[in-house]
Amino acid sequence: MNVAIVGSGIAGLSCGYRLVRAGLKPVVFESEAFAGGRTHAHEKDGFVMDTGAYTIPEFHKKFLALVDELGLSGDLVEAPGNSVIYKEGRPHRVEIGTPVDFMRLKLLSFKSKARLVKIFMRAVSLGKHLDLNRPDDKTFQLEQESAAKYLLRNGREDLLTHIAWPVFSELFLGNPEKNSKAAFLATIRKLVRFKIFCFNSGMGTVARKLSEKMTVRFNTPVVRVNRNMADDAWRVDWGGESPGSGHFDHIVFALPPPLVPDIYTSLSSLATDLCRKVVYEPCLVVALALKKPPAGSAMICAVLREEFPNVATVIFDHLKGSGRVPQGKGLLSVILSADASRKFYKIGDGRIRAVVLDELSSLWPELQDDLLFAKVFRWQQAAVQLPEGALRAQVQLRELLKKEHEQLHFTGDGYFRASMEIGVVTGFNAADRILAA
Ligand SMILES: Cc1cc2nc3c(=O)[nH]c(=O)nc-3n(C[C@H](O)[C@H](O)[C@H](O)COP(=O)(O)OP(=O)(O)OC[C@H]3O[C@@H](n4cnc5c(N)ncnc54)[C@H](O)[C@@H]3O)c2cc1C
Repeated sequence: MNVAIVGSGIAGLSCGYRLVRAGLKPVVFESEAFAGGRTHAHEKDGFVMDTGAYTIPEFHKKFLALVDELGLSGDLVEAPGNSVIYKEGRPHRVEIGTPVDFMRLKLLSFKSKARLVKIFMRAVSLGKHLDLNRPDDKTFQLEQESAAKYLLRNGREDLLTHIAWPVFSELFLGNPEKNSKAAFLATIRKLVRFKIFCFNSGMGTVARKLSEKMTVRFNTPVVRVNRNMADDAWRVDWGGESPGSGHFDHIVFALPPPLVPDIYTSLSSLATDLCRKVVYEPCLVVALALKKPPAGSAMICAVLREEFPNVATVIFDHLKGSGRVPQGKGLLSVILSADASRKFYKIGDGRIRAVVLDELSSLWPELQDDLLFAKVFRWQQAAVQLPEGALRAQVQLRELLKKEHEQLHFTGDGYFRASMEIGVVTGFNAADRILAA
């Protein structure tokens, strides 16, 4: 059986790995020169920069099992994972474990804390209705308004500013206006203390190891997939340095759904429409390599949009493991807000770096002097957003694609919420479907 996989992100590689283990020889097509997509690290002068995904929570069981199976557990480090929210120049620790912890948040008024506890209890009582990967009618009801509208409707502006914004900017790379009340409640309920992990040698470790186990054709973008009636196969046309075409029994699309209809133009009009409607925000990540670490011991620093128009989150990468920076040096990943990422996406790296340094100078005035180099990473489809009606549309899209196609398989994060775990799960599922065919 010949299988073509379009995309060497974690979804495509997980699928390929499962097929290889079953004795098949899939071919993975990748438009970039490296494997991993949004799970990749860039190395320069001893600094290891995660260009996209940066942490693995302990409940990403399938991903962690894969890491173990690949013999990479020794490279995993438990990251401090501690978070602060900066307000008026001061860091406020955020440690949530029980509703009582909400009452300790100095950022909120007493009334807001009490309201937050109430919201948390409501979210807990909703139980499985807040499983965003298996939504039901109740979930669909809860996704009929945005998180922002829900909070404002109830006079909870304080919670919008100090809770919803940091939650959505860090965990969704988005904002409370473009994500639903269901997404907010589901996330609030999960704000419990859990372990998080990083890789000492950077997030590209898994993708690198997986890609060694199969044929990956780098710099080879797939431009068209067509049904070839004559020999009952699928024809794949690719571009890049050595354009060509080949025939395959199964095709796995392992790239964000909005890109699929550009390659496979024979999708039904409803499926095309639903693929294009999956909302991704763009994201700019600016890595700052520094002569020394700036002040602060929290790994994840959120800032408020009222005070910082462009920066959303700052990650202290030098706290992620001993192998991330040369001895004594510092490394920050500055994540711009979705709005700022859209605004600056096409401007030059130098200007983006200037915006970031200028904005962060109020927190760390020494950054400019300590800067060794900066590197800008751009993601056009960074993370899936869950606006009103998105969960229902995802279910419809998943069911439609499964019904319409037996030899085409659709994997990756756009069919669910964005995460590496979803990449592994959907990749494995696609492989199982192919092996069962
Ligand atoms: C800044 C950032 C931080 C994140 N943080 C986390 C985190 O901490 N934890 C977490 O779990 N998740 C995080 N995520 C989300 C996570 O990275 C993604 O959900 C996951 O990596 C998606 O994997 P994928 O395989 O579905 O897609 P991708 O990684 O996007 O892979 C798709 C691949 O397809 C290739 N491709 C595209 N078009 C073509 C074509 N025509 N032909 C051939 N190849 C093509 C692309 O180059 C890419 O390599 C983060 C994402 C970003 C951007």
